[in-house]
Amino acid sequence: MSISKSQLKHLIWEQLTIVVGEKEKKDFKCPEATQDIMVNLANRNKAIKDQNYGPPDPSKPNKKFWAAKMEMWNVDTEEELRGMVCGTCAAFNLTKEMQACIAKGIGDEPTADPWATIEAGNVGYCQFLKFKCASERSCDAWVSGGPIK
Ligand code: SF4
Repeated sequence: MSISKSQLKHLIWEQLTIVVGEKEKKDFKCPEATQDIMVNLANRNKAIKDQNYGPPDPSKPNKKFWAAKMEMWNVDTEEELRGMVCGTCAAFNLTKEMQACIAKGIGDEPTADPWATIEAGNVGYCQFLKFKCASERSCDAWVSGGPIK
């Protein structure tokens, strides 16, 4: 059986992807912010200040927060922003390896921080801003194409 040049290219690409993917898994280390709450808080606070990460409680209307986002994205309704949250962001890492890091880190954290408590149900890791973020929140650095799985 013969294969075409493009099929051959595709097969080589597939094999390379598997090899690179396996190496990345082997070399994977938990990001500091997933293991150290002080690093996570510092990076999260920077995200709030510099990238308007929020809102504080996604279950509330948070009119002011979403109004600022509407202005930034130049859209007329909150509806248009509905899907533009961490959960769909290209920086939102939800891989099994990262979930394991997050679970391990949460085990060591005090429970006094309400943000951390709210995030516990739907938390991932932001590859851009280096902190644990919640899928229902958003920030000015949102990029389509996520999450990373
Ligand atoms: S860059 Fe994406 S994942 Fe990170 S905080 Fe902003 S919206 Fe969330």
